[in-house]
Amino acid sequence: MPPTKIKAIILKKIDFRETSVIVHLLTDSTGKISGLMKGVRCVSKKIPPIAYQEGACIEAFVYLKSRPGLELVTKPAVLEIFNFHSDKLVLWKKILFLVDKLVPASRFNSKEIYELVFNIGKLIPSIKNHRAVEIYITEKLLFLLGFGPFLEKCLVCGSQDQLNFFSGKLGGVVCSKCQAGESTAFKIPAKHIDVLRFFSKIPADNLSMVKYIPDQLFENLMKCLNEIIHYHINE
Ligand SMILES: [Zn+2]
Repeated sequence: MPPTKIKAIILKKIDFRETSVIVHLLTDSTGKISGLMKGVRCVSKKIPPIAYQEGACIEAFVYLKSRPGLELVTKPAVLEIFNFHSDKLVLWKKILFLVDKLVPASRFNSKEIYELVFNIGKLIPSIKNHRAVEIYITEKLLFLLGFGPFLEKCLVCGSQDQLNFFSGKLGGVVCSKCQAGESTAFKIPAKHIDVLRFFSKIPADNLSMVKYIPDQLFENLMKCLNEIIHYHINE
């Protein structure tokens, strides 16, 4: 089979043997793949290290096997460096780790997830509120992967009233009448649920409008999202 041309964000890089690297790639078209870049660290190959650096966005060719496994990746070329410093680098690394953890290593149409991560990478230099980015990307990723959070009606009875409990196991809100029967549901102020709804609806460009997220609000929203991860995504 001829190689497939891909665009990808390097989620993780591990040096392999003397001159090679293994990379986890979030591609724009074929899901997440584990790739072997043979001999790229060899000086004579003249491949700039930036072309296989964690966090970089590259174009490359991949020899896709019939089943996912370690695929051969060749001719990496940089499209976008995404080279951040200090706290912005910490945030970017956190995002790469999260995406690598949540996105399964399988073949699927990953265009939307790729664009989400790429756009966040482009926005990082201009965004001051890192909490907003963290909530936004975790929520969007979970939603694109089909895990929720589902916030419009009680996931047990369908009611739209008194939605002030959340269950990570069910993947969304539970009303105060049904919560007694759901041992995993925990209480959360309805106005905090409103903020989760807000983040699910805005485009990434609007994140710079979010000025301040108090500790308690941030903790509650991350608790909701992390509970979904805890119940549905095991490493
Ligand atoms: Zn209910």
